[in-house]
Amino acid sequence: MPTMGALHDGHISLIQKSIAQKEFTVCSIFVNPHQFNDKSDFEKYPKRVENDILLLESAGCDMVFLPEASELYGIHYRQPFYELGKLENIFEGRYRPGHFQGVCAVIDRLVEIIKPSAIYLGKKDFQQCKVIAELFRLKGWKNKIKIVVSETVREKNGLALSSRNLRLSKQGIHKAGNLFKALQEAKEILLNADEGVEFYQLKNKMTRFLFNNGFEKVDYFELVDNDFNVVPVFNKTTGKNILITAASIEGIRLIDNLDIVS
Ligand code: AMP
Repeated sequence: MPTMGALHDGHISLIQKSIAQKEFTVCSIFVNPHQFNDKSDFEKYPKRVENDILLLESAGCDMVFLPEASELYGIHYRQPFYELGKLENIFEGRYRPGHFQGVCAVIDRLVEIIKPSAIYLGKKDFQQCKVIAELFRLKGWKNKIKIVVSETVREKNGLALSSRNLRLSKQGIHKAGNLFKALQEAKEILLNADEGVEFYQLKNKMTRFLFNNGFEKVDYFELVDNDFNVVPVFNKTTGKNILITAASIEGIRLIDNLDIVS
């Protein structure tokens, strides 16, 4: 299971799932410089390796892999280009240029080294899960390595657990719960509407709600289908859609998503 450390209950839930399903569980901790488009975000990324190791030990994880960048990539390393199609430039890809190439680079190296039979991922990073599925297709790993995606673990107020939450003030954590609240409210409106809902109206309403409730920036608040096509009008026959959002509070960029199953 790949992580960037500063582990929380969301990470541990994935570890526990792997322990329950597999003979041997490896957790990697590596803050991958290649996937950060913002240098200060990389520098400020929380680091708590000793605490992480204790958490992994008490969860029963079999092995921790803590590579150095030089070890993982080597001096002759040239980052390959991964043909990710539209996934690369929309939503997270649009706001974090190069991010998914960096994610593919690190997962590629980790899989080559660890040779797992399964990889455990969190649905909080829904687009990342799709990108990794695409990487596995490109590398011919699709039928060899299982991708197990787990539900998002949340604070009591709905805020998705994230290592970046450590950088929020107490008040910020409280207000950041409004991101999930906006997703839930949008879901309720979509599922209770008698006829088709034009999503842009709901998007405006929810964006206003976020601005009025502590968030200083909303990168996107969108409804997509399982292939990341935007759904302009929702109606109950649409099947499974996903609300996805990214917004910043106290300078910290948070992402979240919620399934809409009619
Ligand atoms: P990260 O350390 O942020 O790179 O995350 C490592 C893995 O843990 C990724 O697959 C994430 O999607 C997953 N993850 C992060 N936060 C959560 C959460 N709140 N609930 C479940 N999984 C999570």
